[in-house]
Amino acid sequence: MAAAATLREITAGDKEEDVSAFRSHCRNFLVESILQIQKRFDLDAEIHDIVQCTLPQNAAPTIPPSLEGICQKLTYLRELHNNEKIDREWREHAMHDKVNGDLNWEDKMALSGITVVCILMLNVFLTRSEWIDMSHAYRENMNGATDPFEISLLHYGATGRAPFAITYKMRLNEHSGTHIDAPVHFSKGKPTVDELSPENLIGHAIVVNITEQALKNPDYEVSVDDFTNWEKEHGAIPKGTIVFLLTGYGKYWGNVIKYMGLVGNISGDFHFPGIGKDAAQWIVDSGKIKGVGLDVRSLDRGQSKDFFAHRILLGNELFGLENVKNIEKLPTRGAIVYVSPMKIKNGSGGPTRIFAQTDPVARSSHQTASIVLLLSIVFAILLK
Ligand SMILES: [Zn+2]
Repeated sequence: MAAAATLREITAGDKEEDVSAFRSHCRNFLVESILQIQKRFDLDAEIHDIVQCTLPQNAAPTIPPSLEGICQKLTYLRELHNNEKIDREWREHAMHDKVNGDLNWEDKMALSGITVVCILMLNVFLTRSEWIDMSHAYRENMNGATDPFEISLLHYGATGRAPFAITYKMRLNEHSGTHIDAPVHFSKGKPTVDELSPENLIGHAIVVNITEQALKNPDYEVSVDDFTNWEKEHGAIPKGTIVFLLTGYGKYWGNVIKYMGLVGNISGDFHFPGIGKDAAQWIVDSGKIKGVGLDVRSLDRGQSKDFFAHRILLGNELFGLENVKNIEKLPTRGAIVYVSPMKIKNGSGGPTRIFAQTDPVARSSHQTASIVLLLSIVFAILLK
């Protein structure tokens, strides 16, 4: 055996052996010996770790069991050399490199910098929050406007003071396009649009999907069951929620016949879904909902003759949103919606820009977690 020959050589020479020379010579011997020991004594040691242990310059990633322990079966080896001493030297070497390996200040700063960049990148990838525009653009010949939206050019081109300027003049009904119904719209004395506070106009959104029922039946009325079933499936509606009802009619925007349900109906009667009386009362009684929006022209269905949804919801100081766009892009829950109506003094409603941010909760918790992680690692590096 080559390793045995090497050992004989060392001991037969009876001279002062250089420790490093011995290490390299005995490595082969150890490998073969330990392989045999593993076979014979079922020793629970990885040959890789043991070999690593014999190479001080390549100290193992984890400190292996003591060489003395590994070699306890090798009585003949222990007799031949002072393994305890070698073991101690190797372990000191490994400890020095792997445990007490102090970084200098430049290394620490570089490591901190790399850590900051990595965590910021991670943060960007983890926080893919999306913004959704929920308003249709105002233009002439909008679907179902009570009065036509009119816009005309007032000025185009050079002015006395600037090489270019453009200005339009417009005329519109408060209740055209994507707009808000302020409580006063159907309830005398209730808040006007300019009295709605910003905190009332921002809130968590949920989406109740009634597309299946509504596309089958254009006169569909949202029922109490639609809400209770939603809660069974998705949990209780949180307080301060803005509810969006997805009827599926939003996809017909631009086609007034289909959007207003005038197909085969020359009488002018509208056929589009809306909120039923009982459902409107349930929304109010829940005490958790501050506004309701739909992707149709009205809170009440096209066939409504009494506007109960308007009367009940607005009468209890909720606001309504009509002709809302992109409800289908909102998650069922978890988005935050910003409702930003034109602030018209004593207005009953007004053109409204609505936009939503998806997953803001996950976003803020990712950011918090990232900052905590970042600070912890930087401190750990700097204080080490
Ligand atoms: Zn309205």
